[in-house]
Amino acid sequence: MKKVFSARDPIEANLLIAILEGEGITASVQGERVFELRGAVPVIGPTVWVSDEDEAAASEHVKRFVESRPQPSKPDWRCPSCGETIPGSFTECWKCVNEADPPRPFNRRVVNIIVISFVAICVLLFLLMIEQEKLMRRNRAQPQLSR
Ligand SMILES: [Zn+2]
Repeated sequence: MKKVFSARDPIEANLLIAILEGEGITASVQGERVFELRGAVPVIGPTVWVSDEDEAAASEHVKRFVESRPQPSKPDWRCPSCGETIPGSFTECWKCVNEADPPRPFNRRVVNIIVISFVAICVLLFLLMIEQEKLMRRNRAQPQLSR
């Protein structure tokens, strides 16, 4: 017996077996039962096996099967540095990669602090101007009151 394929799950293994058997190649799956215990024991997916003399013929079908199978739909993940949600098909955060090249002069947090400080100073100046305006009005009003 020769191992011709390592499947991601039993469904995939059985699909390949159906294809091989359709081509007249007797194939069997191993490790299907062990796969059910995933989490308890470290296991790779189930494997597909054919007889030694069928190996060459089977490997052609396996190659075609591997090329035609859909890519696994990995779950989306959140970038730990910027919090952006990244599609599972990406291994790197597109946002961080883009920002890292060219190199940034400021770190995002520093920029945020500067922006927040600037806004706070503007608000304070505005409040001071209002206070100033009130004081001036009171000063203008006082001579009239004293009359
Ligand atoms: Zn990121």
